[in-house]
Amino acid sequence: MSASHYQLVIVGGGPAGLTAGLYAARARINTLLIEKTAVSGQVLVTERVDNYPGFADGVSGYELMEKMALHAERFGLQKKLAGIAEFALEGPEKRFSLENGETITADAVILCNGARPRKLNIPGEREFAGRGVSYCATCDGPFYRNQEIAVVGGGNTAIQEALHLTKFAQKITVIHRRSELRATKILQERAFAEEKIEFVWNTQVKAVQGGKSGVESLLLSGEGGAEQVLPVTGVFMFIGIQPNNELLPLEVLEHDQAGFLHTDEAMATALPGVFAAGDIRSKKFRQIVNAASDGAVAALSAGHYLEQHFPNTSDKSS
Ligand SMILES: Cc1cc2nc3c(=O)[nH]c(=O)nc-3n(C[C@H](O)[C@H](O)[C@H](O)COP(=O)(O)OP(=O)(O)OC[C@H]3O[C@@H](n4cnc5c(N)ncnc54)[C@H](O)[C@@H]3O)c2cc1C
Repeated sequence: MSASHYQLVIVGGGPAGLTAGLYAARARINTLLIEKTAVSGQVLVTERVDNYPGFADGVSGYELMEKMALHAERFGLQKKLAGIAEFALEGPEKRFSLENGETITADAVILCNGARPRKLNIPGEREFAGRGVSYCATCDGPFYRNQEIAVVGGGNTAIQEALHLTKFAQKITVIHRRSELRATKILQERAFAEEKIEFVWNTQVKAVQGGKSGVESLLLSGEGGAEQVLPVTGVFMFIGIQPNNELLPLEVLEHDQAGFLHTDEAMATALPGVFAAGDIRSKKFRQIVNAASDGAVAALSAGHYLEQHFPNTSDKSS
């Protein structure tokens, strides 16, 4: 047997991957979690998580993920920091070619690749990325102390991050293409009560404008196409997410129009031995708590699959 064979490979080290890793390692399944950047996933860029059960006073995204990683490590989850260049998932043996030339094989896999912020794809967005256009309030908020900035979006993430930005900015204009927010009521109440936050309704951002020093204004299009220029030095975009599916073999994995993977309620894809969990799945709500739940279900299902199809390899060592 190859020295790099595992019973289970988990792709991605966000809440879904780490919870799957915890369950799998605790069930004594020889498991390797492969993460290409930093174990933690999107939560790392979340300043304060207020809705994860058990943390009544809230918890920083960093601390929550550090605890999840330590918890999985306590049961012996093995981790590898590496990018996967190619996935071969169709046969009974799953094969992963890493960017460093290494090959890893496994009897089953849980795809926890997650997602990333969607772009507006408007003029100036790419040009000013990192110079006034941001997708992460935790990372870039402190650069906008006492400045006037904008947040684009009306969901939970947009409102939560707008509230966080009040710590730094003098004024935050939330630009939303609809006439009401999609964010939960409690976030809405906090945002409406916050005097630094103003709202511009039924309006879309048409372009990001600026000069050598960075963003100077946004070109907005309101009801009936009426245009207006909003002077700001920064704009944070929170208009949804897109799946991290670029390297996945989408020709053999069923997915929705946006490229999120279809699974059944056991987190199984239509390919035997291939499971998916967390934000990479096609589903309505994407939160840490249900990513973790998906991860737990996927690991239990993978364990069941391994018992059925590889009954004599319960103590396979890498
Ligand atoms: C700004 C922001 C604020 C948020 N705030 C909250 C909140 O307050 N409460 C809440 O419940 N949810 C919040 N969310 C949503 C929450 O972060 C996600 O639902 C959750 O992180 C999804 O977990 P996941 O494990 O599925 O994916 P992710 O967290 O996206 O993790 C996926 C991981 O997989 C890795 N990966 C991807 N492709 C590969 C590959 N080919 N090889 C190896 N590794 C790979 C990525 O690098 C990443 O680390 C927020 C999201 C954002 C963006």
